[in-house]
Amino acid sequence: MLEIHNLSVQIGEKKILNQISLAFELGKNYCILGKNGSGKSSLAMTLMGHPTYTITEGELSLDGEHLTTLSPDERAKRGIFLAFQHIPEIPGIKLFEFLKGTYDVAQGHTTTFLAFKTLIEPLLEELKLSKEFLRRDLNVGFSGGERRKFEILQIKLLRPKRILLDEIDSGLDVDAFKVVASRLAELNSQENTFIVITHIFSILERLPIDEVIIMKEGTIAKKGWKELVEQVKQNGFE
Ligand code: ADP
Ligand code: MG
Repeated sequence: MLEIHNLSVQIGEKKILNQISLAFELGKNYCILGKNGSGKSSLAMTLMGHPTYTITEGELSLDGEHLTTLSPDERAKRGIFLAFQHIPEIPGIKLFEFLKGTYDVAQGHTTTFLAFKTLIEPLLEELKLSKEFLRRDLNVGFSGGERRKFEILQIKLLRPKRILLDEIDSGLDVDAFKVVASRLAELNSQENTFIVITHIFSILERLPIDEVIIMKEGTIAKKGWKELVEQVKQNGFE
């Protein structure tokens, strides 16, 4: 269980999240909706441990262990994964080294170059990515589709258990989105939890969702499921 208990967050002096409590059960999937600026990305960033977001109140825990004092890499090692809304480009870091590095850290030992190549190449093939793709710099000049495929590649490789997806539908055309959503649906299992932040509802048709959470002005406005989605579709967030 990934739990958020009475969480309040500030950036500098600005209050961003206000007394949020949520619980994400392993094996279930969640969808977070809300207007722009309602705090969805801030919640995801805080769960991952981004240093800009200062916790002023409350606790985060994973299977009973406090997360608040853990660095982002320690949280990642415990199986939390975040696909950013705005993906940073990092020139000079090659995808191959990045993937092998994160894989080695997750495994707790160094894999040989050859063993890693044998592992990664079938995954590339499944996503219709060429081997040359791994020679590129991290996220530099990626198309919307390539960015999302790269995230799916990381999920396939690292098998994180709690997967936060922040508006991964942005920057994708309808067809590319269908491919991405189907790939994610294939990865869905009783062993993981997807927490999907989205503006468009089509992902809900592909990935089974157990609970919909609506955020408003840094708080949880409502929780529910189908009926909430229908209400938002018809009337917006008001
Ligand atoms: P959402 O993802 O729901 O659109 P965000 O979490 O991005 O909302 O933003 C919530 C609030 O926090 C907004 O008022 C936004 O301007 C503010 N905010 C987010 N990131 C920063 C930042 N790095 N510096 C200052 N304010 C920020
Ligand atoms: Mg956002």
